Amino acid sequence: MSAWRGLLREFPDLLPSVPDASVVTLLEGNTPLIPAPALAGRIAPGLEVYLKFEGMNPTGSFKDRGMTVAVSRAHASGAKVVLCASTGNTSASAAAYAARAGLRCAVVIPDGQIALGKLAQAMVHGARVLAVRGNFDRALELVRELGEEGAAVVVNSINPDRIEGQKTIAFEIVRQLGGRVPDVHALPVGNAGNITATWKGYLERSARDGGGTPRMMGFQAEGAAPIVRGARVLEPKTLATAIKIGNPASWAGALDARDRSRGLIDMVSDDEIVAAYRALADLEGVFVEPASAAGVAGLLKLGPTGALEGARTAVCTLTGHGLKDPERAVQVSPKVETVGADVAELRRALLG
Ligand SMILES: *Cc1c(COP(=O)(O)O)cnc(C)c1O
Repeated sequence: MSAWRGLLREFPDLLPSVPDASVVTLLEGNTPLIPAPALAGRIAPGLEVYLKFEGMNPTGSFKDRGMTVAVSRAHASGAKVVLCASTGNTSASAAAYAARAGLRCAVVIPDGQIALGKLAQAMVHGARVLAVRGNFDRALELVRELGEEGAAVVVNSINPDRIEGQKTIAFEIVRQLGGRVPDVHALPVGNAGNITATWKGYLERSARDGGGTPRMMGFQAEGAAPIVRGARVLEPKTLATAIKIGNPASWAGALDARDRSRGLIDMVSDDEIVAAYRALADLEGVFVEPASAAGVAGLLKLGPTGALEGARTAVCTLTGHGLKDPERAVQVSPKVETVGADVAELRRALLG
């Protein structure tokens, strides 16, 4: 097999065309689809569960799938600056791809609400980081306004190039399942670009190769669940900062994915998110950031209700890597024990 060449070169017939000299890639995509038998046993008997671990992308989240397309196209158009609002991962990805493209990058983040790993990424890649005194929804409004003035190319998921890149996940999954289409696809929902893109990918794949589409199951955090509640949330609250969004830009896309796939959009509490986060690490050896566990939390919640009955295969998108938010991992895990530098003490501590 030849080496992976990144999404624009692996899926040229699916993505907007970009002149070779403008292709900006970190060889994103081609992430592992990991079987999760222990988790499956806790969700529903007989169900096969797979984890599409998007934390294995170059900057540690699925955002790279869309960013390679958006930044390549910005480069091809002669843009000098890319701009985004971000709960963290978009800024990390935009900063890395812009650095590689030789473009300037500015990111607007909600002050004090970004996980440390993500902030570090934006900073090390040389982005201008502007923290606004407001939440993500406000940051996105401001960025949209600047984008409309033509000051910079906005690389949030309101940019259709992002959606195009992100849809590739559906093609990879079916390929990794040997041509089978999963019955259920579960994922977290924040700004709702990803559920919109994933659904678009499944639809296009099925139109081309047949085999149908999965039921799309999106999960918001209880304190940030505008789609579930049917109304904008003015002050979203959740420890899963990547989905702490009260007014999703792709709201209509999420509803369309839900309805046309005969799926659902539900919510999970922060406690359920943390339980799923720990179960992924404990039972499967997979370390994700809290928001990434929302899809698994949703399946753990739905399994016992019978809502997954008839499903044989479920795929969960694990959107981002656990190292993005090390402070949370330390906070919810057993404490470090300190012992003297002495074999007797160490033996006593280990063997009781
Ligand atoms: C961006 C992001 C989400 C939410 O994706 P949307 O497209 O905004 O719905 C979920 N998890 C992680 C880790 C993210 O970075």
